[in-house]
Amino acid sequence: MTFFRRLTGSFELKGVGLHSGRECRLYVSPAEGKISLAADGRELPIEQLGLDGTSRGSDYIFPDGYRIRTCEHVLSALTGMGIWGFRLEVEGGEMPALDGCAGQAVEELQKHSEPCEEAAVRPFALSSSLVVGEGERFIMAFPSQEFRVTCVVHYDTPVIGTQMMDFSGEPEDFCRDVARARTFAMASEIEALRAHGMALGGSLDNALLVGETDVQASGGLRWPDEFVRHKVLDLMGDMAALGRPLHAHIVAVRAGHELHLRLAERLRNLAAVGRQR
Ligand SMILES: [Zn+2]
Repeated sequence: MTFFRRLTGSFELKGVGLHSGRECRLYVSPAEGKISLAADGRELPIEQLGLDGTSRGSDYIFPDGYRIRTCEHVLSALTGMGIWGFRLEVEGGEMPALDGCAGQAVEELQKHSEPCEEAAVRPFALSSSLVVGEGERFIMAFPSQEFRVTCVVHYDTPVIGTQMMDFSGEPEDFCRDVARARTFAMASEIEALRAHGMALGGSLDNALLVGETDVQASGGLRWPDEFVRHKVLDLMGDMAALGRPLHAHIVAVRAGHELHLRLAERLRNLAAVGRQR
């Protein structure tokens, strides 16, 4: 049994963008029966926006090429809590990084939402299995009565190693087990990321920094397997690209935003075919 919530009012979040390093603002407001993204006079339902997961985050792209970067953590906070009718207006071209996870957004959403019985939009139920990716990195999705995620990560460092999480998709479990898991980067790749215009706003306030034998984390790791929990957080946020709750069991093995969004594209196409019938 999944519980849903609806927004009771609007609020604002602001802070530095994780990749751009610029000051960004986000206005969250209720919207009836849809998820929409807005920026500088543009506005579209989320399922009509282009997707790009190749730059260490999930970017949503308007038809004129304007993109909103790093949307996954805020979207994860909303849909993870079971909120499906909302409008996000962004200033600065990127979502604020906040605390590097969904924790701060969830705290605000708890003040500005209330339980309700049904999602604001009809769920999409996957009717046959599909797979994206190949080799050691892939995602499979199976028909299921409810949303469920099984996630596996593996990094060749003793700090992370192999971690696995099976997650129910329930908002209560999301808030307790997933929302506060922070994003992470390898210390060895920071310079290269910054040279390519990424991670410019990254700091120990909003990310974990993984070294060869240890991890730098503000206040220490919140769980030994905080890394796989964050991957679940990312995957949930990326499934919001469908614009509707998903009834499927997703099994993600060493995946990332690029694969998540490839799956979301496949699901968007299947949902569009279903609507034409
Ligand atoms: Zn993330």
